[in-house]
Amino acid sequence: MIERTYSDDITAEQDGETVSIAGHVHDIRDLGGLSFVIVRDREGQTQVVFKEGNDEDLFEAANDLGKEDVVRITGSVKASDQAPGGVELMPSELEVINAAESPLPMEVAKDIESDLSTRLDNRSIDLRKPEAYAVFSLRSKLVNAMEEWFDGEGFRNVDTPLLSQEGAEGGAELFPVVYYGEEVFLSQSPQLYKQMLMAAGFDKIYETGTAFRAEAFATSRHVSEISMFDVELAYIDDHHDVMDVQEESLRHTLERVSENATDELETLGVDLAVPTDPFPRVTFEEARDILATEFDHVPEDETDLDTKGEKLLGEYFEEQGHPAFFVVGYPDEKFYYKQDVPGDDIASRKFDLIYKGQELSSGGQREHDIETMSEYMEDQGADPENFHFYLEAFRFGIPPHGGYGLGIDRLVQKVGELDNIKEAILFPRDPDRVTP
Ligand code: ATP
Ligand code: MG
Repeated sequence: MIERTYSDDITAEQDGETVSIAGHVHDIRDLGGLSFVIVRDREGQTQVVFKEGNDEDLFEAANDLGKEDVVRITGSVKASDQAPGGVELMPSELEVINAAESPLPMEVAKDIESDLSTRLDNRSIDLRKPEAYAVFSLRSKLVNAMEEWFDGEGFRNVDTPLLSQEGAEGGAELFPVVYYGEEVFLSQSPQLYKQMLMAAGFDKIYETGTAFRAEAFATSRHVSEISMFDVELAYIDDHHDVMDVQEESLRHTLERVSENATDELETLGVDLAVPTDPFPRVTFEEARDILATEFDHVPEDETDLDTKGEKLLGEYFEEQGHPAFFVVGYPDEKFYYKQDVPGDDIASRKFDLIYKGQELSSGGQREHDIETMSEYMEDQGADPENFHFYLEAFRFGIPPHGGYGLGIDRLVQKVGELDNIKEAILFPRDPDRVTP
């Protein structure tokens, strides 16, 4: 490895010590006989002071530097109140490891807002911006924190296939793929496989995976290729056990992130509130009542809350100190949800988690009786023949179970307070973009 010190590890206490830094040339300020070169690495920036007269060759080499060159500089640390971060480097050696072409396709150093499309076209440059990197550092810590909670609770980390013959929820949203001359589909959800693992006695599982949705959306919260955090657990009493898991794991995740990602949150200007109170659990009917009475809003589709409804409910609960809440008992049609809720003819055992005014996950208790589920399938025009491999798993003993799927990209978008979900994804896919 090339020996180097990260910029945020250089402190004023090291005054007089020799260190080496390596990174991209972020900015150059040429003041005639004096030149300030700012070197950027993953953790921050260091100011390097080149003075004419100290070492002519070194000064000339510094004058030849271009923005975004990759360099390694060795020098002595100097504590300085004027320097950003309270330290600067007085160089003795400069090595250009790799020169950058000029002009750059977009600015990294200057505070020029490029539009999202330009940013995504030049993503490897765009990601050099401290705010862009902060998103993915935050994302890494967030997913780790989530996995950490599930590992601690005895859940097993699994991987289910991305190629299959049938989607979990019907054909329209599927991307076809040619598979040895036959048409198969990219997975839209690990739903069916998670349930098969419940039949297999795996008991508690989670998966950090990928799902594909062939929808022609044009919103700030949809993409075609999504990262999903999926959970399934067995021997539940009902869907409230699943909500307990969702609530505790999300609280843990937000807590961890608020402790361990302070730099990232600061760079993004986010003051992250960790919900301490229990998440409210309102029924679907109650949610619609709140919308009608408080906001005079009646979502057109009687089985849904719509985007505006979710946003308004988000404001309503946020005001009461609840950034996250569940809407329980959607009249959902999907065959794998258990439909019967005692005393309620409409509701199913499906819930959505709304976080900061946006749906973050859907889940519930699954139907595990094969006869009942086959009926649901027929009601919805899903041919049980096509789901033979799945139904087989229900014939030879399967415990009551439930789970949910959470959109990781949406969670990062909401925690990072990003306008568009694509900012939360390294190389996002949408109907108009599959490159880079
Ligand atoms: P929405 O109604 O918001 O389009 P959905 O109900 O179709 O979402 P689910 O099938 O319930 O989505 O998927 C579970 C979770 O996966 C969602 O709550 C969301 O966080 C995420 N998700 C689903 N589709 C997308 C998408 N196209 N882009 C980004 N995230 C998505
Ligand atoms: Mg949903």
